[in-house]
Amino acid sequence: MVRVRGVHKSYGALKVLDGVDLTVNEGEVTAVLGPSGSGKSTLLRCVNHLERADRGLVSVDGELIGYRHGRRGLRELTERRILRQRSTIGFVFQTFNLFPNLTVLENITEAPIATQRRPAAEARAHAAELLERVGLTDKAGEYPRRLSGGQQQRVAIARALALRPKVLLFDEPTSALDPELVGEVLDVIGDLARSGTTMVIVTHEIGFAREVADTVVFMSEGRIVESGTPSRVLDTPSHERTAAFLAKVL
Ligand code: ATP
Ligand code: MG
Repeated sequence: MVRVRGVHKSYGALKVLDGVDLTVNEGEVTAVLGPSGSGKSTLLRCVNHLERADRGLVSVDGELIGYRHGRRGLRELTERRILRQRSTIGFVFQTFNLFPNLTVLENITEAPIATQRRPAAEARAHAAELLERVGLTDKAGEYPRRLSGGQQQRVAIARALALRPKVLLFDEPTSALDPELVGEVLDVIGDLARSGTTMVIVTHEIGFAREVADTVVFMSEGRIVESGTPSRVLDTPSHERTAAFLAKVL
């Protein structure tokens, strides 16, 4: 479903991704762990072409992301087609990024209507379903500033789901939240995992990764240095850097 092959990315002299390969099967959850600066966010941003890899390719559902095969090799897609493609890859950021001047409902219906050209009535009905799913039916008419961080993040998840994405990418979805609000957001993500949503989740919540992930990968200095089932990687890490990291966070 998600295939990352040989992705390299540098910023000037700084090598941030150094040949990353990652496969996430349909309906499976991959948790990405690793120290600060190891390239986790950059990897997610390369998956949906927010960041252009220097080398290597990404495909989602067999569709090449950001490029098409032309007569003389790969050609980058037009900005319009990239935006359209990106709308099928949900992205949930650490800092919610809701539109402050739109209501909760409008935040959720904006992209389906504007980018995917869905009829407004259908988009609103779908948004209502999604708000129920994240437990925020009563907040539909509210503005983001009047919601707690946990509620805002649940709206952001509903907004990502409104595009009926093939895969959802989460970049530390709970690390900006007060501790008492973390659980409600993890519960929503856990429900999505159990319902078979394909997801890649960058997180420092080791217990959560153990519970919901099919695969845990550990990144260090731009590489995936190990990958396996949660218990394999978390209980019997084979790489010294994984062991050192886990010793610090557990
Ligand atoms: P964290 O856990 O702190 O979020 P991360 O694993 O997500 O870290 P990245 O954000 O992918 O790490 O960054 C990897 C490295 O690339 C860091 O050294 C960072 O400073 C650098 N970097 C990221 N984005 C840029 C950019 N646009 N320009 C220059 N350097 C960047
Ligand atoms: Mg990051």
